[in-house]
Amino acid sequence: MPFDPIPAPSASDVDEPACATHPSKPVAVNFHLWRPCNDACTFCFATFDDVRGHLTAEDAVRLIGVLRAAGTEKLNFAGGEPTLCPYLGEVLREARAQGLVVTIISNGFALEALLECQAGDLDWVGLSVDSAVEQVQAALGRGRGNHVARTTKLFDLVHAYGLRAKLNTVVTARTWDEDMTAFVRRVRPHRWKVFQVLPVGGQNDGRVEPLLIAPAQFRAFVDRHLPLGAEGFAPVVEDNAAMTASYVMIDPLGRFFSNATGRHVYSKPILDVGVEAALEQITWDAGKFVERGGLYDWSQIISPMSLVSRRRG
Ligand code: SF4
Repeated sequence: MPFDPIPAPSASDVDEPACATHPSKPVAVNFHLWRPCNDACTFCFATFDDVRGHLTAEDAVRLIGVLRAAGTEKLNFAGGEPTLCPYLGEVLREARAQGLVVTIISNGFALEALLECQAGDLDWVGLSVDSAVEQVQAALGRGRGNHVARTTKLFDLVHAYGLRAKLNTVVTARTWDEDMTAFVRRVRPHRWKVFQVLPVGGQNDGRVEPLLIAPAQFRAFVDRHLPLGAEGFAPVVEDNAAMTASYVMIDPLGRFFSNATGRHVYSKPILDVGVEAALEQITWDAGKFVERGGLYDWSQIISPMSLVSRRRG
């Protein structure tokens, strides 16, 4: 998860609710379009073991237009692993054509090939690294002992493409006392999101329990990395409370879902009932979305490369 001929933004560029857009609309949406994943992170809270199948490519593309018409401005493609999705290219093209700010969060699986073909359809690329120690990362289920080195190269690639880079880190019992300063400096993310490992019923229960941490442990990890703020890499912090009911999320079947109850609760398919009705069927706290820094000036996050692509389009 990548970028860098561009100066790193200040925390206020990416975290303050500077945008005048009404937050009750689904302005920023996470579309988990593909359930399968090549990794098996023990803490994964998007396993979708309770979801069978996915939208057709045609319906996924149609859904993007429906979201745009309902006020969505930024669309993040997630999984599972989104680069495994055979129609990812189509949905990225559609999202770009609709004028959305387009982001992806990936473990890096087929990212290099994607960037070769479609870097111009992306504004941000997010990569997940939870430990700078290869053995620890592998023990957490992400990669097979080379994830840190591989991801470091991918960050370089994202920077070379002139895209914005995001680093996602989930802090667990294996890593709360780790110092990731050198790694963060090396990969130079424009945004570093730091999450407290989250238990979600039906997604990771039965596996995640040994990895859960107390608020004080999470705080210790965050405090250790606060000095990075002076270099433009301040952690954007989300504890379990901030992560709950603060995201507008769509599952592989095109339904909104919420984690407000500690389990996933799904709406009816958005293409069947419309955005407004489907959104009313789940719990989404717009206030928490703003509090966690979910609403900010979108114009600050559009990459120069995508602007070139937009002009050509
Ligand atoms: S890479 Fe992401 S989707 Fe895949 S198992 Fe890990 S956390 Fe889950």
